[in-house]
Amino acid sequence: MTESLKENGLYWRPLGGNNIDQISGHSYQYTTVTPNEDGLVKTTIVVDLGKFDNHQALGIKNSAAAVPDIRELLNVAEFNLKAIFLTHSHPDHLNGIVHYIKAGYRLPPLYGGLYTKMILYQLYDEFGIESRQFPVFNVIKDGDVIDFDNMSVEVLASSHTCFDSFGFVISTPYSTIYHSGDMKLDSSTYFRKPTNLKRLKELSAKIDCAVVDFYGCTEDGFAIKEVTTFKKLTVLIKKRKRRKIFIPVYPTHPEMYIIAFLAALKAKRNVVFYGTKDFYGYLHLLVEYGISFEKIAANRIKILYKPGDEIRDFNNNYVVIGTFNNLNEYFDANERNSFGIVTAKSFFNPLKGQFNLHNIPFVSVDDIPELQGFGHGFFGDYEYLAKILKDTTFIPTHCPCFVIDNIRELAAYCGINLIKETPHNNEIFRINGKECIKKEESPAVWLVVNYNDDYAYFTEVWQKPTSGEGFLKRTISNRRCKNKFKMFLLSRQRKGKKE
Ligand SMILES: [Zn+2]
Repeated sequence: MTESLKENGLYWRPLGGNNIDQISGHSYQYTTVTPNEDGLVKTTIVVDLGKFDNHQALGIKNSAAAVPDIRELLNVAEFNLKAIFLTHSHPDHLNGIVHYIKAGYRLPPLYGGLYTKMILYQLYDEFGIESRQFPVFNVIKDGDVIDFDNMSVEVLASSHTCFDSFGFVISTPYSTIYHSGDMKLDSSTYFRKPTNLKRLKELSAKIDCAVVDFYGCTEDGFAIKEVTTFKKLTVLIKKRKRRKIFIPVYPTHPEMYIIAFLAALKAKRNVVFYGTKDFYGYLHLLVEYGISFEKIAANRIKILYKPGDEIRDFNNNYVVIGTFNNLNEYFDANERNSFGIVTAKSFFNPLKGQFNLHNIPFVSVDDIPELQGFGHGFFGDYEYLAKILKDTTFIPTHCPCFVIDNIRELAAYCGINLIKETPHNNEIFRINGKECIKKEESPAVWLVVNYNDDYAYFTEVWQKPTSGEGFLKRTISNRRCKNKFKMFLLSRQRKGKKE
């Protein structure tokens, strides 16, 4: 890739996150090339180093994961890799770190939020990584500015489904980029700072390009707000007097633990937390992070962290929050005394089976979409963002490339200036002000991770469109996506005519 970095400028390369037909394994490279008396010098940072979820589809037996290929940046000193910035703690943005360490690489200093650090250190523990192998971890927060040579990185809070989610404003002499991380614009996030729109507005004249999470762009309007989910849950709980309420939540979305808890509190129901090891792991982290359910409850309700005999005193007046599939172990649930509220799609199918088996009535996200916490913007979020960041070039990421190809007409109508060529993994773009020109194409690769004894080794596999099989079925087909965007456009054109 050194070939294309021959002129001075800022270069951007998605190493994962801009797949042909699916998304996962996020990682993005930013390199400045600057002339000095010795020739051209480089400064590089990487944002995120995730794992690719669908590694089995890459066809290597007994694989444990797949990760983006940043080996060249680690091995070639000329790149002057200063840091890896972590937007948040989800595995598709973070878990590559541990596999690189297990494969014997030394990583540059990491920059991320406190919660991200806690999750990462838990992973170190799980993978038996010793403290001498840990890269330096610098804890950052909203408003921090970190400088490297001619690059400056400002940290901005982002609304997402976990604590300490960040975007970054990366300033260089050639261009200033807003890298959003996973986010929506929702300002109602509980116990977390929402997306820092105030600072984005202040910086808007300075920001040339926005590398933005487009994951949710196939839904119209604004992304569901946390306060909407909270209100919906509260109403549903209040309506079912003298019933036990079961609210399963996704283990990796602790914000839903809190929303469900607040709704139970509002409805004055006691709370029982109950779930898998994973669930308790995240719950424990929340408490360690400083969330005190007791303090929030202020003696208005009782809280149990494990179901036990005390439940008898609760008089059926309680809400069970967690990841559980077995209703009869502790709860003696039946059609007269219980009600279920399922806040996630397929994850809780076994539980739905149990509800059906015992004739327990329940509602789910299929009937009430607002029940699902969602961390990514919908199309309306981007329309709004484009109003804040006027004349900014939008570079979509975290989204299958065909979705971006399909959204162009709609985006243009709504004043979202998209990058001219849809970026694919491993392509290199030179960014000059608001102009992004593709400089080099190389086949995208994934490093499939296998473990031999305690060591990870990597096998390079070319990314094929079929790597996303199954994913398309779960999310959105090319045709459906085209039709949806056509509908969004029509509704706006009609509205435009009326006005
Ligand atoms: Zn995420």
